[in-house]
Amino acid sequence: MTNEHQTVAFIGAGNMSGAIIAGLVSNGYPASNIIAANPSMPKLETLQNNLGINITTDNIQACQHADVVVLAVKPHLIQQVCQQLADSTDLSGKCFISVAAGVNIIPMQAALGFAAPVIRCMPNTPSQIGLGVSGMYASGEVSENQRQFADQLMQSVGIVQWLDSEAQIDDLIAVAGSAPAYFFAFMEAMQNKAMALGFSKADSRKLVQQTALGAAHMVVENDDLDISTLRENVTSKGGTTQQALTTFAQGGLAELVDKAMQSAIDRAVEMA
Ligand code: NAD
Repeated sequence: MTNEHQTVAFIGAGNMSGAIIAGLVSNGYPASNIIAANPSMPKLETLQNNLGINITTDNIQACQHADVVVLAVKPHLIQQVCQQLADSTDLSGKCFISVAAGVNIIPMQAALGFAAPVIRCMPNTPSQIGLGVSGMYASGEVSENQRQFADQLMQSVGIVQWLDSEAQIDDLIAVAGSAPAYFFAFMEAMQNKAMALGFSKADSRKLVQQTALGAAHMVVENDDLDISTLRENVTSKGGTTQQALTTFAQGGLAELVDKAMQSAIDRAVEMA
């Protein structure tokens, strides 16, 4: 990984920071160039013991020598944290990457007290196991070097999709941010049916999760084929799969998915 000279401060050392830091360190980023700040020590000590990074309970101390500041507190605390940093230390030259859902760049820059380079990042939960999707949008103040660094940072926990506008983050939420739960809901319904058929809970889960994993891998490993072709390839005319798919179609599956995703977008817009 390049940019190894940059010092990265994580403000808030919870699940998302922990995932990104673990990804960075396992990709060879020097732990000595990473510092995490959190009000309480236990999470920090775990990160230090497991990954060898620097830790502090003082956000300002973490930020002082950082080139890049990752804002990873809950959304309602972002303004307060930005103001605290702006009031106490010189922020010029630093790039801010916010993973907070629903907090726009303009209010963040207002709280930081200047037109800071800010990158909004919307990761999804599989980032915690290195299989995430992060939507990223950079404000006009972000340099190419800062953009590349943010790209590397988030690639350490999955894939990155750069967006043309901040508003597209709401679309990304529907397509990837909220989407792991769509698959969980589908798998849950399948598990329930398997149990109703008499399989044990554990066996039902094993059968459903392995099938989901196999199907996902087939999509990944056959990226020259459309997903619709993969579906057609396993659907014999007049067979059981076709019967099940016809039942889905009659129930309006495609329309329902469209409607559900649109409702996620509408809610994201409402919440912003
Ligand atoms: P979390 O609760 O695990 O972590 C937040 C951390 O911030 C906690 O350790 C808390 O002690 C610390 N904190 C609280 N006040 C602080 C302060 N004033 N200064 C510094 N640290 C403070 O939450 P998380 O799941 O890691 O989420 C963090 C951010 O990431 C949120 O804004 C969330 O919207 C975003 N996010 C998370 C996920 C996810 O999968 N977890 C996905 C997308 C976006």
